[in-house]
Amino acid sequence: MSDDTNLSLRQRKFAVFGNPIKQSRSPFIHAEFAKQTGLSLQYRAIRVELDNFERAVMDFFKAGGSGLNVTVPFKEQAYQLASRHSARAVRAKACNTLRPEADGVYGDNTDGIGLIRDMIANHGWSLRGVRVLLLGAGGAARGVMEPLLRENPSALVVANRTVAKAETLAKEFADLGQVVGKALTDLASELPFDVIINATSAGLKGETPDLPGSLLGDRCCCYDMVYGAEPTAFMRWAAENAAWAVSDGLGMLVEQAAESFYVWHRERPDTASVINHLRGSLAAA
Ligand code: NDP
Repeated sequence: MSDDTNLSLRQRKFAVFGNPIKQSRSPFIHAEFAKQTGLSLQYRAIRVELDNFERAVMDFFKAGGSGLNVTVPFKEQAYQLASRHSARAVRAKACNTLRPEADGVYGDNTDGIGLIRDMIANHGWSLRGVRVLLLGAGGAARGVMEPLLRENPSALVVANRTVAKAETLAKEFADLGQVVGKALTDLASELPFDVIINATSAGLKGETPDLPGSLLGDRCCCYDMVYGAEPTAFMRWAAENAAWAVSDGLGMLVEQAAESFYVWHRERPDTASVINHLRGSLAAA
């Protein structure tokens, strides 16, 4: 048997399942983490047919797979499929990280902690005692509600195009702090915010919700979960309205990956070098 074959037999197998999946940067990120930590692993991006998610997961684990990331549109299905969940996955009702266990599948959600680490540890922003506006009430917004509220902001307003979804989220998380749900079109009378987070997917179409600039307080920090080679429409809106700091979601992507890496390997990789590398390759693309 060649050395190469020996190596591939020892390699544990990981993947990210999604649809579409072509643009996923997760294989690169996990390969970098593996290099740093000296682990030998294989990590692939796999496009799964929309009606075949559960079977694809079970087949992957039966064939010896050690862990999966799950992305759009399968995070809720991943939650349903898991037989045991982390507390943060229960709150999010969605999983982006799966691991096989002797009697089932363990599901976790690392998106929320990824956002918080990027804002606090990487950017030096604070959420404690400040007013936070969260735009959007989809899966990503739900995933960040608990970690956001655990930072004890003085108020959290969730604003969504479909107001009922914002109100439902606010009710579900009311035990963790001061949170209200509103329509995106009903923000003009709000006091200014210290932190504004865009968790809508409008940016994927080059758009941003139409919002008054009066929402930005002095030294307001604005974060868009979307990322790309150029500043997003939300980032441009924030800069035009004199935001103190503006960030896209590239750091969140790498931080959530690092937390998944920890769930599987109990090792914490360095994220800064990977964020810088990805930033460079986005700029060069
Ligand atoms: P969902 O499809 O679950 O939710 C989309 C949200 O965006 C809904 O609240 C929807 O409102 C709102 N929305 C969509 N289009 C518009 C628009 N034109 N104007 C105003 N609101 C709009 O998506 P996710 O929550 O899963 O993802 C949201 C974004 O976050 C995506 O762009 C995704 O790429 C990004 N993301 C980034 C991550 C990272 O690591 N950086 C991790 C996870 C997500 P309504 O309810 O009315 O339809």
